[in-house]
Amino acid sequence: EKNVPGASARDLTPSYDWFQTDGLITIVIYTKQKDMNAELVIVDCQDKRLRGEFILADHSYLIELDLDHAVREDLDVNIAEKVGKVEIILKKKDNVHWKVLGRPLESHNTFIKRTDRGLFYRKCKLVSKTEVTHDTKLFSLMLPKSTHLQVPTGQHVYLKQIIAGTEVVKPYTPILPSLTLDFKQPSCHDGAHIYLMIKIYSCGLFTQALDHLQIGDYISVSNPEGNFKKPQVQTSEDLFLLAAGTGFTPMVKLLNFALTEVSCLRTVKLIFFNKKEDDILWRNQLEELALKDKRFEVQFILSEPRKDWGGKQGKISLSLLSECVKRSRKDSKVLICICGPTPFTEQGVEYLRDLGYSQEEMHAFTA
Ligand code: FAD
Ligand code: NAD
Repeated sequence: EKNVPGASARDLTPSYDWFQTDGLITIVIYTKQKDMNAELVIVDCQDKRLRGEFILADHSYLIELDLDHAVREDLDVNIAEKVGKVEIILKKKDNVHWKVLGRPLESHNTFIKRTDRGLFYRKCKLVSKTEVTHDTKLFSLMLPKSTHLQVPTGQHVYLKQIIAGTEVVKPYTPILPSLTLDFKQPSCHDGAHIYLMIKIYSCGLFTQALDHLQIGDYISVSNPEGNFKKPQVQTSEDLFLLAAGTGFTPMVKLLNFALTEVSCLRTVKLIFFNKKEDDILWRNQLEELALKDKRFEVQFILSEPRKDWGGKQGKISLSLLSECVKRSRKDSKVLICICGPTPFTEQGVEYLRDLGYSQEEMHAFTA
């Protein structure tokens, strides 16, 4: 829209307004973006400090204030998706008239590149910890009532802990509580929980500390990050997921999204690399899903199998990929997603390139 009179960059800057009734404070954000959705709005309110971040393409708009008066914990967020209007509705603790909304903090009302915006953390409560395999656990964290945050498919968050007096931060990829739940049940996407599948390493700095957390303890969780784009999947007919070990985690939401929301999808194949049979994450659920949905197929490949393993063995290789990754039709639109230890991902991408797949047909999950 370069030559449209009046269409300067300034016009795209979001703005906000606010009003009150006896019991409520409503803040209205005009994002000027047409396809807003709940994943693009992150709101936190701790004590009297309100922070609202709005993700608008590669930019971030921020509202950050010390509120004039106290509000209740249970805030509401309404999104008018088509018009791009977002409302944050706060409930006054006391029925008083507010003269101002609050005192602006340093980054209030700024619109900057998303990558220039620092990560924000809020404390989440550990509500359960269950075994997945001999060394991997499913951690369920509860977001505060005053937080509105949904982690998009393909993105990760950072966890932060103080270990021996030093702040340590590591990335983890939220998953779903299960692959075989009926996702039409509202309780599955209440937005209040974050599920993480984490492998505990015996010498791991961060995971050892995580493993020592007790139910009811708190841990800091950041805003989501990551460069995976949903439209990549939305148009694909054949989806291949190459996962190694906990590299399975980004595939969980991706698999669910593909099977429930991608109408042109014909086949999904998960090729899952592990050392031993005992290391396979959610094996039963994957096999159950394959029986339930004819489009989905799973193949397990072990690098250190026992003698009695009847399945495929080895590490990622050109011959293995040429055998396992094939278009269902000659001109199928294909997407291949890959995640695991860095050498696995790097080799995988190289082999796929050798096999003639283009950059657009691949997505590698990395830090
Ligand atoms: P560390 O103290 O870093 O070491 C872990 C073990 O690995 C030790 O045994 C150590 O000897 C060995 N090790 C360390 N570095 C190397 C190396 N470069 N090469 C070989 N061996 C090494 N993990 C999950 O379990 N679940 C997830 O959902 C998840 N999501 C992730 C998302 C992203 C984007 C990335 C980049 C990583 C993700 N990880 C995930 C890995 C996670 O961030 C940590 O790296 C992991 O939990 C280990 O942390 P640690 O501090 O316990 O281990
Ligand atoms: P692991 O050591 O149990 O290995 C699982 C399989 O990965 C092996 O059986 C083998 O097939 C393959 N593999 C391992 N090392 C390899 C190498 N050097 N070359 C080729 N193939 C190799 O795996 P793990 O301990 O579960 O580790 C999972 C890795 O995935 C971690 O490094 C973690 O950081 C990474 N991860 C990354 C993301 C992300 O970037 N988004 C998300 C989750 C996990």
